[in-house]
Amino acid sequence: MNRSEEFMELEHRYGAHNYHPLPVVLAKGEGAFVWDVEGKKYFDFLSAYSAVNQGHCHPKIVKALCDQAQTLTLTSRAFYNDCLGPYEKYITEYFGYDKVLPMNTGAEADETALKLTRRWGYKVKGIPENEAIIICCEGNFHGRTITIISMSTDPDSYGQFGPFTPGFVKIPYNDTKALQEVLEKHGDKVAGFLLEPIQGEAGVFLPDEGYLKTCYDLCKKHNVLFIADEVQTGLARTGKLLACDHEGVRPDIVILGKALSGGVIPVSAVLADDEIMLTIGPGEHGSTFGGFCLAGKVAVAALEVIKEENLAEKSEYLGKIFREEMGKVKSEMIELVRGKGLLNAVVIRPKNGKQAWDVCMKMRDMGLLAKPTHGHIIRFAPPLVITEQELRQAIEIIKEAILSFE
Ligand SMILES: *Cc1c(COP(=O)(O)O)cnc(C)c1O
Repeated sequence: MNRSEEFMELEHRYGAHNYHPLPVVLAKGEGAFVWDVEGKKYFDFLSAYSAVNQGHCHPKIVKALCDQAQTLTLTSRAFYNDCLGPYEKYITEYFGYDKVLPMNTGAEADETALKLTRRWGYKVKGIPENEAIIICCEGNFHGRTITIISMSTDPDSYGQFGPFTPGFVKIPYNDTKALQEVLEKHGDKVAGFLLEPIQGEAGVFLPDEGYLKTCYDLCKKHNVLFIADEVQTGLARTGKLLACDHEGVRPDIVILGKALSGGVIPVSAVLADDEIMLTIGPGEHGSTFGGFCLAGKVAVAALEVIKEENLAEKSEYLGKIFREEMGKVKSEMIELVRGKGLLNAVVIRPKNGKQAWDVCMKMRDMGLLAKPTHGHIIRFAPPLVITEQELRQAIEIIKEAILSFE
């Protein structure tokens, strides 16, 4: 056994089998690159599901982490600390909301948004208690808790995990008529509409232009909160700070996670204005680590990097190059290339029994890492710090890998 095999064997032997990783064992990362335990270098085209938009081990973010780690890490929210307030001021001004509620993982932030939405529904909108409806979209991915998988339409996510949390109505994604129908029928009981502006985990599904704006307007008409899960699409990934910015929509609630820490610790957040946020009072929601000292310092650094390095503009510019170049590849295996900014997907048509997985294995051998989702879709989402020259090199690898099956 070589060293890689030893590490894979350990994970298999001692870890739960809730993931099926590509067989590569990573030991180091810097910018858009990672290295395996044998020292081989790869382009990272997954970016930990868009958690490392700022690149692996970004020096500024790592410094913020290390400095604070030697000073004070966690106080709990039983006391005040000198990191949280400045972070809250920074992030709310950055996105233009009254308040933030800090959590750790994306799923927790989604749960928080659901609780806020129900609370607002009862306290502000006046829905009779325990009757609030939240509308969600088919094909969604919002995380792994039981309430969140109660919204899922993917049997892998919800199968044999019931009974489920009630109170959700699922409508097709990218279907404003369906939203309108539910709102016209049950509008007085609907507290919110939760969606991903682009469905990431489902395979990078983009809605028609104008979808977000139309949904937002429908929500406003029925006094319903528009809630954007920007855990994957936010923080410059799609070419704007938030994916909702593409349509000039300001969600009532924004959910952030993943790249909010640049991938160094779990940091998530919910942003909303006072009318919504102040419906939850002391002792009614929280998390031991939510908004801890390290998170505050790291998140400020991670958000600064996005602005200082113009990552949104870069993502927009480089994404166009990616789709243009991939569109030129003459291969029967490429069924479709789609995406926004540097959140892209290539839909693979199997050829001679070769699938998306085989393409990913070939790319791995050639020094580029990506992972298939739902069997036939490969997501391409490199760290946004990748340079144009590096991106063009990477595109050559991807092309060559796909063409090797011709
Ligand atoms: C990854 C993701 C989540 C869940 O985040 P975790 O940190 O894994 O809990 C929620 N929503 C979206 C859109 C995501 O992509």
